[in-house]
Amino acid sequence: MARIVQKFGGTSVADIERIKNAALRAKSEHDAGNEVVVVVSAMSGVTNQLVAYVDQMGGLFDAREYDVVVASGEQSNAGLMALALQALGIQARSWLGWQIAIETDDVHGKARITGIETAELEKRLADGEIAVVPGFQGISPANRVTTLGRGGSDLTAVALAGALKADRCDIYTDVDGIYTTDPRIVSKAQKLDKITYEEMLEMASLGSKVLQTRSVELAMNHKVRVQVRSSFEDSPGTIVVSEDEIVEQQVVSGISQSTDEAKITLLKVADQPGVAAAIFGPLADAAVNVDMIVQNISEDGNTTDLTFTVGMADLEKAVAVLEKNQAEIGVGEIVADSDVVKISVVGVGMRSHAGVAQKMFMTLAEKGINIKVISTSEIKVSVLVAEEYGELAIRALHTAYGLDAD
Ligand code: ASP
Ligand code: MG
Repeated sequence: MARIVQKFGGTSVADIERIKNAALRAKSEHDAGNEVVVVVSAMSGVTNQLVAYVDQMGGLFDAREYDVVVASGEQSNAGLMALALQALGIQARSWLGWQIAIETDDVHGKARITGIETAELEKRLADGEIAVVPGFQGISPANRVTTLGRGGSDLTAVALAGALKADRCDIYTDVDGIYTTDPRIVSKAQKLDKITYEEMLEMASLGSKVLQTRSVELAMNHKVRVQVRSSFEDSPGTIVVSEDEIVEQQVVSGISQSTDEAKITLLKVADQPGVAAAIFGPLADAAVNVDMIVQNISEDGNTTDLTFTVGMADLEKAVAVLEKNQAEIGVGEIVADSDVVKISVVGVGMRSHAGVAQKMFMTLAEKGINIKVISTSEIKVSVLVAEEYGELAIRALHTAYGLDAD
């Protein structure tokens, strides 16, 4: 007997037919003698609609009421899922965030889970009851409904799996697993049987939106075995596990891209102590997240150029902040470029293998692709290239690292 948390994403519970189908998946685990907790998202599109309603109210809104509104998509799906299970002859009930309780802090719209009571749930599970839990919601210390940030149903599922010491957390979605790269770009992309938490974290934060980033962090910290699989097919998915479970580690596991990047170059920046602090301080104060940074050495000893990237959504704000401080800091010119894409090769194997970055640079050079900015971490090498070369770069790298399917 195993204890399994199954989470169904928005497309997997997008209408009544699909909810009934998802219920069959819960039933088959239950029939096999397992304890089952089902976490549901809102029907796909519903949360966006609810957010839009709040926006249409206009002006600044009370974040506590925002949460009441946007949490409702999951609430109705939880009730519907419980009904679908009951119709299959299974004892099932819904548990709203406050009923469990899933306790959070009071940061409405992006709350963090602080604790989960599991005693009553465990008793019911032992009796053969399926617990249906709406994702994305919790309860604040002030007894208000909170939500966990967009994509937060993954977080609910992983947190529950951790608290319940579940054997597995199955994330049912509209893709059948994690691929070496986006199969829409590279037809020879391969599904990975396993991927490490750290690699998944890099891939998630780099734009492959299969799992919410925070949920991967939580899974890593609590060693929750997460399986990403399709609701629409029966093939096994990809299991996210710790490194020691992966027997034959590839040097590079995957290649991901993020198009949500913009590059800012500052020309003729005074070359003297304190300038970087004067540039990045005001950006940090304005909550602009800076990612890759390169600074040239100064040729004349007086000025230098400095390039960095920010998220597309922050570009305008970043330029405004820089313009405001331009004279004071001593910046000659500010050049913004949003036609860029960040390509990253990711793999825990590169910790123990030299030459991974070099292979990337060679491959791009052979294709005549110019690298604008480079950054590295222990398990990742990222380059920024012109957007028009993005797909060519991914295809070439996928081949170069031996990831193409036969
Ligand atoms: N429905 C929420 C959202 O779209 C939470 C989720 O589905 O994970 O962000
Ligand atoms: Mg999601």
